[in-house]
Amino acid sequence: MKFNTKTIHGGQKPEATTGAVMPPVFMTSTYEQSSPGVHKGYAYSRGANPTRTALENNLASIENGKHAFAFASGLAAIDCVLRTLKPGDEVIAGDDLYGGTYRMFTRLFEKYGLEFSYVDMNVATNVKEAITGKTKLVWVETPTNPLMKIADIKAISTVVKEVNSAILIAVDNTFATPYLQQPLTLDADIVMHSATKYIGGHSDLVMGALIVKDAKLAEDIHFIQFAAGAIAGPMDSFLALRGVKTLHIRMQRHCENGKKVAEFLSNHDKVEAVYYPGLENHLGHEIAKKQMKDFGGMVSFKLKDTSKKAALTFLENTKVFTLAESLGGVESLVSHPVTMTHASIPEKERIKIGITDSLIRLSVGIEDEEDLLADLEQALSL
Ligand SMILES: *Cc1c(COP(=O)(O)O)cnc(C)c1O
Repeated sequence: MKFNTKTIHGGQKPEATTGAVMPPVFMTSTYEQSSPGVHKGYAYSRGANPTRTALENNLASIENGKHAFAFASGLAAIDCVLRTLKPGDEVIAGDDLYGGTYRMFTRLFEKYGLEFSYVDMNVATNVKEAITGKTKLVWVETPTNPLMKIADIKAISTVVKEVNSAILIAVDNTFATPYLQQPLTLDADIVMHSATKYIGGHSDLVMGALIVKDAKLAEDIHFIQFAAGAIAGPMDSFLALRGVKTLHIRMQRHCENGKKVAEFLSNHDKVEAVYYPGLENHLGHEIAKKQMKDFGGMVSFKLKDTSKKAALTFLENTKVFTLAESLGGVESLVSHPVTMTHASIPEKERIKIGITDSLIRLSVGIEDEEDLLADLEQALSL
């Protein structure tokens, strides 16, 4: 099956007793056993729940993986990956990570003895140079949040595996979604999603996911998920599965609108810089063109007026773009990374990588393009 068909049918079959096309929301914690230990594959819902299974099979299908796991949040999914490591192990990560990922690395896992180094992954050889004898995991985000930096997944996998084929490559695919890129086909080992974003797509749930091909890795992840317990519930699993079924058509419009917004801002005299991988002057444009089907709906930009006041005036006055955290829903959102998503990154670090007061991030939704551009124009004119 091709991608669009898989979003709807991948890993799905009608429900066995009634033929229901959508899986029921199995609101159950436990399952009858005919004899101790003898059951139909479900014993307790921390281990597995049929609604969650239906979603997981679908996610495995659209990411070209074999095994998927749905978690209580994106961060719970990342937490699970890090728990496969042990004290003294080292992780190489990108230097422009989602703020919550950075917070987890620095404020939780450093305490438990994991070591982290951060490199600019726009250049694959930077990753190679950071490898030591203790490196066990490379954590890649592409495009990054909020600067939309691009990492070449295939090139990174190649250089890393040349040095040590046991080092795992994990890709946070939240911004791109499997519609735009499928890291497992680019030799990554683990795909992670904040399904809260485009996978769910309707800003009505918080969820995470991991998808892998390797059976042993799947076994380790399932054990940690079962033993630590950060599972997705059945109602959220149902909503996420419903969301996935329109992922491809939502993404098509997100990409169209994202491009229009990026072009509009590029030509606006109050705008200093626009960060969108679809723009030819974007640092990662060539890699993005090769690696992604299209360029997505996330657009960041800097105002020429570098005062915080100018940014706040814009942020407080958009009308179609709602000022809110999060991204990837059908509605357009605007956010201020410095005070919102990236507040947990120390000021010196932020400024070093370019997250300044004048940086604004847009999650461009699937509304009419004319309304989105008119809204940006009026807010910029204030
Ligand atoms: C939101 C987000 C996360 C964290 O996911 P939650 O579902 O909020 O826990 C991780 N990575 C990226 C890129 C995100 O946007």
